[in-house]
Amino acid sequence: MNKQKVDIIIVGAGLAGLSAAKKLQEQARTFVVLEARDRVGGRLLTEQFSLPSKSLDAPTHYWIDSGGQWISPTQTSIRALADEMDVTTFTGAPDNGKVILIFKGEYYQLNLGEDKPTGCFSKVVTLFKQNFSYDYNEFQTLELELDKMANDFSDGQPWGSPNAKKWDSITAQAWIDANAHTEGAKFLLNLSCLLAFAATPSDLSLLHLLFYIHCAGGLTKLHNALAYRLNGGAQEVPKRIAAQLQDNVKYGNPVSKIINNAEGVKVILSNGDVYEADHVIVTVPPALQANITFSPPLPASRRQLQQRMPMGSSVKCHLVYETPFWREKGYSGLVYSDEHVLPFITDNSNPQQSSPGILGCFLEAETVRKMMDKPIEEIQTLITKTIEDIYQPFIGTIPKPVAVHVMRWSDEQWSGGAYAGMMPPGVWTGYQNTVRESVNRIHWAGTETATKWFAYMDGAVRSGYNAVDEIYGHEICSDDPLSN
Ligand SMILES: Cc1cc2nc3c(=O)[nH]c(=O)nc-3n(C[C@H](O)[C@H](O)[C@H](O)COP(=O)(O)OP(=O)(O)OC[C@H]3O[C@@H](n4cnc5c(N)ncnc54)[C@H](O)[C@@H]3O)c2cc1C
Repeated sequence: MNKQKVDIIIVGAGLAGLSAAKKLQEQARTFVVLEARDRVGGRLLTEQFSLPSKSLDAPTHYWIDSGGQWISPTQTSIRALADEMDVTTFTGAPDNGKVILIFKGEYYQLNLGEDKPTGCFSKVVTLFKQNFSYDYNEFQTLELELDKMANDFSDGQPWGSPNAKKWDSITAQAWIDANAHTEGAKFLLNLSCLLAFAATPSDLSLLHLLFYIHCAGGLTKLHNALAYRLNGGAQEVPKRIAAQLQDNVKYGNPVSKIINNAEGVKVILSNGDVYEADHVIVTVPPALQANITFSPPLPASRRQLQQRMPMGSSVKCHLVYETPFWREKGYSGLVYSDEHVLPFITDNSNPQQSSPGILGCFLEAETVRKMMDKPIEEIQTLITKTIEDIYQPFIGTIPKPVAVHVMRWSDEQWSGGAYAGMMPPGVWTGYQNTVRESVNRIHWAGTETATKWFAYMDGAVRSGYNAVDEIYGHEICSDDPLSN
């Protein structure tokens, strides 16, 4: 059994934990990061693969982001951190070629023309603007209304709106049902919830949707959230931070107990190792915190909150083809569909590599619930067939994929789902700031505590900095680029 004393213990080596650790290292504090998995990154996972060589050529290597992948121009904290770690970016949504839109039973192949917005969601909004102006006009009116409602409270405090009780008593779906009448507006609002939360609008409180819009700085900025990707994969950022932290990161043992008293904290791992410190920063998503025994027990409000923040349901899939067959036929790889189990597909090939061609797509929310306990092979067959069904009307028979990768986040013991925890009706107004309020020497971080870019990588980074700030005050974090 190991025993060690440091200034600060950090639980979790995702972006939040590593951002906090990086700040502590810069300030010459002693710390340790305790990680359950045998890797860093948490909900960021870049996987490397090879395809066997054809004839005398070397095997083809490629990578995929099985977890988070996109960042946006206004996500200043993750961008600054990626810059510092020398991880460059590239355009995260294909710019050239036709986009396939399947809407109300019709199959369209559309060109974005000169109007080339960066984000994957901005592109489908532009398609509606160009081709379905009646539906688009209603969508825009509803968006303006949502933006106005999302301005009705201060940063991070949705419960402070005079309308909070009303908005927190209904789901986002109830608001859509009452206000959206065109199929296009309904489709776009539904798609935006799937892409943002891996949840249906019936899973979330309307107030949570407004909070989410608010903390992204408004809907225009939110539409651009899927704009850039990180070269080499998003996990490069946590990997490079961890390399700088050296053996201050301990892998492969979950924290099982946290003892919190007037003298300090004692953190016990599943293998019996014990760490002591002045404070602990816990970055584990709220839904998983019940895996840790707290002594004394956490306040009742905190324990109840942890039962009320479910994780979204996402299965991220990649289909790998010898070449990008869609590009060869003039398609961008982007597909938006209101009738398939894959509502959104994009070209996720590696930059500057013409082979293999990689399509990235998600099974979300309701489909995941139906498929979550099925064998992986059944999911692979379903998505391969869906891609064939979508492309065949346009280009006839398409090649079979040479590999199909499926990542079921709800199977991940140390994530419990994806993309993040969310608030169903009644939680924001009932529990208010509980998700962020420290309990004596226990401080909470993780993207679920962020007041800007909640649920995103950017929110995770900010939350790590904020936790350090909470402990040591502005002398440490005053120079962080936290503004939008
Ligand atoms: C499929 C998918 C797609 C996404 N897409 C995007 C995107 O495009 N853009 C974007 O910005 N964000 C995206 N996200 C969200 C983004 O990945 C997260 O917001 C961010 O990575 C969260 O970081 P975190 O440090 O707060 O939490 P985590 O990454 O979850 O880190 C928490 C860490 O705690 C560890 N842990 C858990 N329990 C214990 C324990 N008992 N003891 C010790 N360690 C423990 C976990 O293993 C994990 O490493 C996506 C996520 C997923 C899964």
